[in-house]
Amino acid sequence: MGVAGGSLAKTLIDGGVDIVVVNHEDTSSSSNVAAGLLNPITGRKFSLTWEAVNVFNKLDAFYSKIQTDHNTTFFHRMPIYRICASMRELNDWSAKAGEPDYSDFVAAGFEPDPAILDAQWGTIGTSKGGYVNIPVYLELIKKELGDRYIAVDSLLKTDEIVVNKSFVEWNGLRAKQLILCEGYLAYQEKFFGHLPFTPMKGEILELDIPGLYRDRILIRSGFIVPFGEDIFLGGATYDWRNVNANPTSEAREQILERLSGYIKLPIEVVGHRAAVRPAIKDRKPVIGTHHSYRNVHLFNGMGSKGTSLSPFLADKLVGFLLGGDKLPEEVDLNRFIVGKSTT
Ligand SMILES: Cc1cc2nc3c(=O)[nH]c(=O)nc-3n(C[C@H](O)[C@H](O)[C@H](O)COP(=O)(O)OP(=O)(O)OC[C@H]3O[C@@H](n4cnc5c(N)ncnc54)[C@H](O)[C@@H]3O)c2cc1C
Repeated sequence: MGVAGGSLAKTLIDGGVDIVVVNHEDTSSSSNVAAGLLNPITGRKFSLTWEAVNVFNKLDAFYSKIQTDHNTTFFHRMPIYRICASMRELNDWSAKAGEPDYSDFVAAGFEPDPAILDAQWGTIGTSKGGYVNIPVYLELIKKELGDRYIAVDSLLKTDEIVVNKSFVEWNGLRAKQLILCEGYLAYQEKFFGHLPFTPMKGEILELDIPGLYRDRILIRSGFIVPFGEDIFLGGATYDWRNVNANPTSEAREQILERLSGYIKLPIEVVGHRAAVRPAIKDRKPVIGTHHSYRNVHLFNGMGSKGTSLSPFLADKLVGFLLGGDKLPEEVDLNRFIVGKSTT
C-alpha cells in the first residue's frame, strides 16, 4: 500500500465504509523511497501547488489526528528555506511573494552560518512545509485496517479480477466496488493502461552531514530533509527514460554535486534508493470512474506530491463515490477520455 491507497483507506474507514485492502508489499515502491516532503511552492518558477490552501489545510488536520490517535510522530512540520542561486531568483521571488495566493505560505528567510552554507544571494522562507515519514504513517494505517489488510506475495493480475454489474470478485473476495491505487504500475494494466501515464524514475541519497541544521528543510535544485534522528535525505532526480528501481552512479553524482554547491560541510553517503513515481502527461493526478466498468475506480497520478495531495484528493473521491459530488475537472480522469465531458 502506498500513500495513495493509505490515505484513501483511512478516509473510507473514517467514513464508515467497509473495505479490504489487497497489496503486494514492495520496498522499492515510490512511497517507501520518497522523502515525504510537503512543499507548497516548487520549481524554478515558484509554482504554487494546485489548490494549495485547501490541500495544506487538509493535510494538517488529517495527519495530526492520526498522530494523536496513535500517540506517535510521523508528521514533522518544519520551515523550508530555499537557498537562492542568483540575485535574479531572489527578485523573482520578491515579485511572486506579493501575490495574494502566496500570502499563506510566505515566510522570512534566515541568515545561515557561512561556515555551514554558501548563501551569498540570500534565502527565502516557506511556511506550512514539512515532511511525512511515509513508512511509519503506512504502518499505522495497516494497524487500523487489521485483518482487512491482505498482503499478497506477488502482484495481482487484473485479468483475475471478475467485474460484474453489481460486484467485483478476486480470489473468492467479493466487493461492490474496486478502487485501484497501484502507483506507476497502472500504466500496464487492463483497466486504466490507456491513460497517458509517464512513469518517472527518481533517486534519493541517505546522508550523514554532521553539523547541518536539523530543524529545517533546505532546497536548491533539489532538497535536503533532516529525516529522523540520524540521517538527511537528499534528492531527488527525475528520469523519464529508465523505468526501474535501480540506483545509478550518475544520479548519485548529480545529487552530490548539487548539494556541495551550497553545503560547506563534509557529506557522507550512507544509503541510496530509487523508485518510479506515478506521473501523468499533464502532471496532475488522475482519479474517477472507468468509462465502461462503472464499479471500477482509479486513485493515481500523485507524481512527486503524494504526501501533500493524497489526503485532499481522498476526500474528493469519497465525496464523489458516496455523496455524488463533482470531481475537480483538473484531476478527473475523464479529461483524457475522448467524447466524455468531466463526470
Ligand atoms: C526519489 C523519490 C522522491 C520522492 N519524494 C517525494 C516527496 O518528498 N514528497 C512527496 O509527496 N512525494 C515524493 N515522491 C513521490 C511519491 O513517492 C509518490 O507521489 C507516491 O508515493 C505515490 O504513491 P502511490 O500510492 O500512488 O504509489 P506507490 O507508492 O507506488 O504504491 C503502490 C502500491 O501498490 C502496489 N501494487 C501495484 N500494483 C499492484 C498489484 N497488481 N497487486 C498488488 N499490489 C500492487 C505496489 O506494490 C505498492 O505497494 C518521491 C518519489 C521518488 C521516487
